[in-house]
Amino acid sequence: MPLQVACPACGERDVLRGARDGDRIALVCGRCGREWERSVRPRCPTCGAGDVEPVPLAIVEKGRGTQLSVVGTRTIHLCPTCDAERLVRYHANRPNPLMPDELPTLPDVP
Ligand SMILES: [Zn+2]
Ligand SMILES: [Zn+2]
Repeated sequence: MPLQVACPACGERDVLRGARDGDRIALVCGRCGREWERSVRPRCPTCGAGDVEPVPLAIVEKGRGTQLSVVGTRTIHLCPTCDAERLVRYHANRPNPLMPDELPTLPDVP
């Protein structure tokens, strides 16, 4: 991913390291060592709209037995046009996180 960003201290553009953390990118300049953060302005990958909404998506894993357990959330961005159905589902269940479309398959119960 090319970073369209320059170091605020020395203007370096090429020797930057970035580590993405949710909505933010922690950047380190390889020339002067300056560290700073910038937030990502997400866009809809489908239609390019910029007014996407951050939504917590549940990270679901198979727990013990036949239970699915939510082990955490990560932020995704839903487009009011392309992801309208999922946004409605999220708002209907707030403050619970959105459940992923595909859940881990449970073993068949005999
Ligand atoms: Zn720098
Ligand atoms: Zn869209």
